[in-house]
Amino acid sequence: MLKIEKLTHVYGNGTRALDGVDLTIPQGMFGLLGPNGAGKSTLMRSVATLQTPTSGSIVFDGIEVIAEPEKLRRTLGYLPQDFGVYPRVSAYDMLDHMAVLKGISGRGDRKTTVEGLLNQVNLWNVRKKALAGFSGGMRQRFGIAQALIGNPKLIIVDEPTAGLDPEERNRFLNLLGEIGDKVVVILSTHIVEDVADLCPRMAVLAEGRILLEGAPLDLIAAT
Ligand code: ADP
Ligand code: ADP
Repeated sequence: MLKIEKLTHVYGNGTRALDGVDLTIPQGMFGLLGPNGAGKSTLMRSVATLQTPTSGSIVFDGIEVIAEPEKLRRTLGYLPQDFGVYPRVSAYDMLDHMAVLKGISGRGDRKTTVEGLLNQVNLWNVRKKALAGFSGGMRQRFGIAQALIGNPKLIIVDEPTAGLDPEERNRFLNLLGEIGDKVVVILSTHIVEDVADLCPRMAVLAEGRILLEGAPLDLIAAT
């Protein structure tokens, strides 16, 4: 479970991107819905320990995220918006390299991990291809494989369906849905359908505040 309390972030230029966010996120898929500029990326980067909030607290499974960022990073999988790839490296080699960075040092363990992930995200057939030649959907599925290295318990996916065609979008969302309910998966998006189809729980963020929280059907019925 992820528990966020009174989280506020004020940028150097005075923008109050988060304004006292309280949010409890259970196991399973959780949708964070909000228009552009709502503060979603600021919130996701704060949870992913990439920026330090102005005030407030974030606790994940007993880890004080702000005070113990290294501890969280060991159990975090993060797929940022517009993540970069090394264009000339193959999918296999990149995952293998990232597995080393994640501390999976034995060759056999790495082979099992990388092969399993390539199959899971349906990129086995293109594992030797350079990432530069990947379509948007292939790239996002590669990004999920990257995020899943080391079996994280908290997975954050920021605006993952932007720019995907409908078929790739469905493929990607189905893949997210398969990750399972023993982990926390946060899907941050401005697209209502991404959340409605997939997430038993969701919250709506606007202007740095939580407007609504609950089950998608209840929230849609209330609006
Ligand atoms: P901080 O005070 O938290 O360090 P800054 O306001 O100094 O933040 O900005 C940090 C970086 O973010 C700068 O490189 C800046 O150009 C960039 N930035 C500024 N405004 C925005 C914005 N509205 N959206 C995205 N990035 C921005
Ligand atoms: P979202 O992900 O929902 O689009 P963001 O978290 O990117 O929202 O942005 C929330 C608000 O903070 C916006 O007003 C944005 O312009 C501003 N903002 C984002 N990053 C920075 C930054 N580095 N410096 C200053 N303002 C920023």
